[in-house]
Amino acid sequence: MDERTLITTFFARPQDRRADIILGIGDDAALLRPEPGFALVVATDSIAEGTHFPAGIPAAAVGHRSLAVNLSDVAAMSAEPRWFSLALSLPGADPAWVGGFATGLFSLADRHGVVLIGGDTVRGPLGATVTVLGQVKPDRAVRRTGARPGDGIWVTGNPGDAVAGRLLLAEANEGPDAAALRQRFLYPEPRVQEGRALAGIASAMLDVSDGLADDLGKLLAASGVGAELDAEVLPLSAELQRLQTARAVACALTGGDDYELCFTLRPADAGRLREVSAHWSVPVTRIGTVVPGSGARWRLHGQPLAVSDSTYRHF
Ligand code: ADP
Ligand code: MG
Repeated sequence: MDERTLITTFFARPQDRRADIILGIGDDAALLRPEPGFALVVATDSIAEGTHFPAGIPAAAVGHRSLAVNLSDVAAMSAEPRWFSLALSLPGADPAWVGGFATGLFSLADRHGVVLIGGDTVRGPLGATVTVLGQVKPDRAVRRTGARPGDGIWVTGNPGDAVAGRLLLAEANEGPDAAALRQRFLYPEPRVQEGRALAGIASAMLDVSDGLADDLGKLLAASGVGAELDAEVLPLSAELQRLQTARAVACALTGGDDYELCFTLRPADAGRLREVSAHWSVPVTRIGTVVPGSGARWRLHGQPLAVSDSTYRHF
């Protein structure tokens, strides 16, 4: 299958026409129409086999992941994702694999109303680079820099599940807990609605891709503040606690691949958070407090907890 056939068969879809897309797939570049008064938001993330996902996972999970990690970044800016491009690197043109990839990609894209507007297809090691474009009112984007002493520190969902699921890929455990955790790794759910709802409410925010402790450290450094946190209030899922009993807290703090949102909140805004989060399908949990200084001090049942830096580093 040549590149052109591959694109027309799997990626150029007649339903992907919309008023905000002047020109989509097919020309040298796409032409887009952001709404007046909005800033353009751009996020790019690559995933490579062997680095970001193990060989042999379903093609649909790779397609889902390539977009999900980028939607998560846009969500963490409180922005609305609208369009995306896809640079796909394939060792060969296996139509069954590419079809599975496209199915996973578009089922997530369609749920969030984001449209594929172009890309590139090359032969090489298996991997994908997606760029998501979106829009947000410039003063509504939530940055990493706004945390102040006294703010609460919050996290969505159940951090730790994804890394536990990744560890379980290689195991024969066929029980429902293992299946649920594997799903959390294979199909991370970007918190797009939640991130947008936090515009004007969260004081600082980022998404958790490298592990909660590591990513929170980035937010604290960007804001020039420290934090005190209690590991016993971490929202560990029942599945994680059953299957990683001794390591559940370590999974939640250093595991990575969660794609949850971590944000800070002025105490006066707790009521607004309660209002907007009432209809969320994920829990949102307060795990600590911003303090003057630098760095995070984690405690477990009142005792200092050393968080070892076990997150993945590329270089
Ligand atoms: P060029 O050589 O001018 O870059 P290509 O032949 O690479 O053109 O691409 C033709 C059209 O197909 C372009 O509009 C490009 O954006 C689109 N395209 C290529 N690969 C993909 C892909 N994997 N997904 C979506 N669109 C793609
Ligand atoms: Mg090209």
